[in-house]
Amino acid sequence: MSDSQLDCPKCDGTLETKTHEEISVQRCNSCYGLLIDPEMMDKMNDEWMVEKFFDVGPASVGRKYDKIDDIECPLCKIEMTRLTDPEQTHIWIETCPLCYRVFLDAGEYTDLKHHTFTDLFERFLKGKRFKD
Ligand SMILES: [Zn+2]
Ligand SMILES: [Zn+2]
Repeated sequence: MSDSQLDCPKCDGTLETKTHEEISVQRCNSCYGLLIDPEMMDKMNDEWMVEKFFDVGPASVGRKYDKIDDIECPLCKIEMTRLTDPEQTHIWIETCPLCYRVFLDAGEYTDLKHHTFTDLFERFLKGKRFKD
């Protein structure tokens, strides 16, 4: 990979590439936010306990940065879209409408993996409406 260094969309930190098995994500060296490629997201959802390797930031830090919204995709430089789970409105993710990368605060991936995050994201990708 020849990715140049990206700035964290939420703080002054830098996103660093972190790899485990076949999965790599970008993680902020300051707030531990994660920028995840949709392909990697797929792999991560199949990988048992992968969150232990990537989602290492303290949830207290994540909650602080969770209050920041209106963030820009560090690659596309456009505003990321907030996706909310209609059944669990305390859960949301920021995703880029162009490259579909997702930005998660520290602790969020761990939290979401145990909810309906995969469903939410897949519905978004397919552009389908929620069933009633
Ligand atoms: Zn950061
Ligand atoms: Zn993007």
